[in-house]
Amino acid sequence: MKKEVVVIGGGIIGLSSAYYLAKEGHKVTVIDKSDMLDGASYGNAGMIVPSHIIPLAQPGVIHQGIKWLFNTKSPFFIKPSFNFELLNWMFKFYRNSNQQHVDNSVPHLKNLSFLSKELYQELAMKANQFLYEEKGLLMLFKSEKVGEEEIKTAEIAKHFGIEVDILDKAGIQNLEKNTIVNALGAVHYKSDAHLSPNLFMKFLKEELLKMNVQIHNNTEIVNFKLNKKTIKEISTTKGIIKADSFVLAAGSWSSKILSKLGVKLSLLPGKGYSFDVSRTQNLPSVPAILCEGKVAVTPLNATVRFGGTLEITTTNDKKIHLKRLLGIVENIHSFYPDINLQTPTKEKVWTGFRPCTSSGLPIIEQSKKFNNLIISTGHAMMGLSLAPATGKLVSELVSNTKTSIDISAFKIK
Ligand SMILES: Cc1cc2nc3c(=O)[nH]c(=O)nc-3n(C[C@H](O)[C@H](O)[C@H](O)COP(=O)(O)OP(=O)(O)OC[C@H]3O[C@@H](n4cnc5c(N)ncnc54)[C@H](O)[C@@H]3O)c2cc1C
Repeated sequence: MKKEVVVIGGGIIGLSSAYYLAKEGHKVTVIDKSDMLDGASYGNAGMIVPSHIIPLAQPGVIHQGIKWLFNTKSPFFIKPSFNFELLNWMFKFYRNSNQQHVDNSVPHLKNLSFLSKELYQELAMKANQFLYEEKGLLMLFKSEKVGEEEIKTAEIAKHFGIEVDILDKAGIQNLEKNTIVNALGAVHYKSDAHLSPNLFMKFLKEELLKMNVQIHNNTEIVNFKLNKKTIKEISTTKGIIKADSFVLAAGSWSSKILSKLGVKLSLLPGKGYSFDVSRTQNLPSVPAILCEGKVAVTPLNATVRFGGTLEITTTNDKKIHLKRLLGIVENIHSFYPDINLQTPTKEKVWTGFRPCTSSGLPIIEQSKKFNNLIISTGHAMMGLSLAPATGKLVSELVSNTKTSIDISAFKIK
């Protein structure tokens, strides 16, 4: 049965959901409180990483996080606060950071990631208007210790069928011919890809308009009207919208919206920074992560995008910490000594919020409480990577058909 569907949130998860819903013949409306030009889904690093199948909540992450908290230039920070939400999130994240959680999650993340990559390939084949490229990803490391950890992770990836090479200095330079790389070694994930997030969002919006999807920006959801277990309509700053089904894809704002429905989700924003540098000099040509500083490097046509830091904070906090920005720039200089890069002014730095769940896993589920609500959020550092698969799964849930993969791991627990 074809339905009227409202998607709340027009980031990459909302738009991808709208895309696959409209393709299935549903009548779709997207609402978003912003102008839909500059959120997390635009300024991110654009990496499609089927290689990244280990959830954020994993053994060792707490120990490393605590060490980083005491370094003002480190890539990780928690904005101190004594609110219940933060303490609850930290407690749950701590409890989830164990091997059993990793072992349970990896096969599910792998299936979701592989499905997404396949769908990206399909979309790029249709019309690659968003600089989709399959150049793999170099996880560059400088120290033996970090190298050992990366190689251990690579062994797990290999076990799950992901194509991996371990490279020494010469091997790296063989691939990266544009600039000198000062690293001890690298793990090369050969099946990873990348694209321009800004262009991909533009492409999605154009495709949606062609399929007669209604897109209302600057329209904020205010409340829900309910009839027992069914959502009848939503009120927004621009009026009331009725529908058969509702998809909640509001990124870092999702838990606040869900609380209006009495649905609890432990999710906090993980703020990150990025900036673009024009290709006027010998900038890198192969996408990379500079492991010691967790800096993402994404070559696009005329620019290279550098991204980093994860600050657990609130959605009001758009502050750019100069020391953390310096930390990113120092990392770039130390891995790419030939690049002559000035620290960008704060005005040139973009910030966005990754929606981080306390399990490190996304949520893609038919709500247990409401029979016409699909929840689709919490993709943290992999929202772009996982968006097409998430959108397809959302459309399958709305259509009540068998999902392409098992999604039992992606539930609110
Ligand atoms: C520095 C950085 C680098 C990153 N790099 C990568 C990468 O390389 N690869 C990758 O896969 N991921 C990456 N990510 C993560 C990725 O950007 C996010 O996971 C993704 O953008 C989340 O998409 P979303 O649609 O869930 O949320 P968002 O893009 O935040 O969209 C949510 C939307 O909901 C709207 N909204 C909120 N409240 C309301 C309301 N009340 N009413 C109506 N609308 C509302 C918001 O305005 C927003 O537009 C990165 C993130 C950062 C910060």
